[in-house]
Amino acid sequence: MPSAVEFRDVCRFFGTVRAVDRVSMEIAEGEFFAMLGPSGSGKTTCLRLIAGFEQPTHGEVRIFGEGMGGVPPYRRAVNTVFQDYALFPHLNVIDNVAYGLMIAGRGRQERRREAEAALDLVKLPGYGGRKPGELSGGQRQRVALARALVMKPRVLLLDEPLGALDLKLREQMQEELKALQRKVGITFVFVTHDQGEALSMADRIAVFNEGRIEQVGTPEEVYNRPARPFVADFVGSSNVFPPEVTHAVAGRRAWASLRPEAIRIVGQGRPARVVATAFLGTATRLHLEMAGRDVTALLPRGAVVPEPGETIEIGWGDSDLHLMEGP
Ligand code: ATP
Repeated sequence: MPSAVEFRDVCRFFGTVRAVDRVSMEIAEGEFFAMLGPSGSGKTTCLRLIAGFEQPTHGEVRIFGEGMGGVPPYRRAVNTVFQDYALFPHLNVIDNVAYGLMIAGRGRQERRREAEAALDLVKLPGYGGRKPGELSGGQRQRVALARALVMKPRVLLLDEPLGALDLKLREQMQEELKALQRKVGITFVFVTHDQGEALSMADRIAVFNEGRIEQVGTPEEVYNRPARPFVADFVGSSNVFPPEVTHAVAGRRAWASLRPEAIRIVGQGRPARVVATAFLGTATRLHLEMAGRDVTALLPRGAVVPEPGETIEIGWGDSDLHLMEGP
């Protein structure tokens, strides 16, 4: 079975800017796939290459096995939910949702029926008569989703779909989006710079850095077994040790990552000076200096917190030190 989306050695350059640089990846049908990376790392350009708003400078994008060279956006089995939702302010919700169906020449009754079914799906039944300006941010986001889903795309593209929402609503929508994706069963590809969002929603994550993919894997893989220093640092802010430090603390000459939550204060371990502490609610973050290096540790709630200036002894389990390829 062909992949829903496949990139074969895809580049997209803008003048001297290598926005996307030799990216190859496969997204399976039915997958919830995240493209995660810092600002400017090429995620949105990849999404636009799938949608057909951009063409590769080199390489090929395939959708369900078919090469997309020269295929315009409206002939692709994909639809996009934009970050700003791009709703028409003067149309009511039903007409916003049904807009694509109208352009496609469907009859009035069918449009209404399909739009109402899509609003049910995103849990907004009965909101059809309102204007976008009379909705909350979360409700507008659902309308944008309904408008994309009503076209029955085989792949739904989402550009920072929850970026405009406050934290609480974002967490609620993360669960809902995931449940919705399971229900409709179509492939979701979403762009985010929020690692927590990618970890909590995606089946697999591609971690982008400077136009390239550093690693593709399940949330568990990229978090627990980062392939490179960039992934370790970007996903979960791990402590990254260059080979000489790993050698000093573990006798192995390789890059390594150590999760802050794996570090414990022990009776006999490695001396570390406490530089600063920060209460985070669910944990306390310690900024430490060990062998001349900054190290971050997270103490669980209820642990005894040392004072800045104190020297403590720290330790971790052998398997917590994860060895990696170099940058
Ligand atoms: P963000 O999270 O900020 O949206 P991103 O990871 O999605 O970032 P892209 O929008 O894909 O990054 O941009 C990648 C690089 O390509 C950036 O350096 C950007 O300035 C550049 N770029 C993107 N589109 C264009 C364009 N149309 N013309 C010139 N440069 C562009």
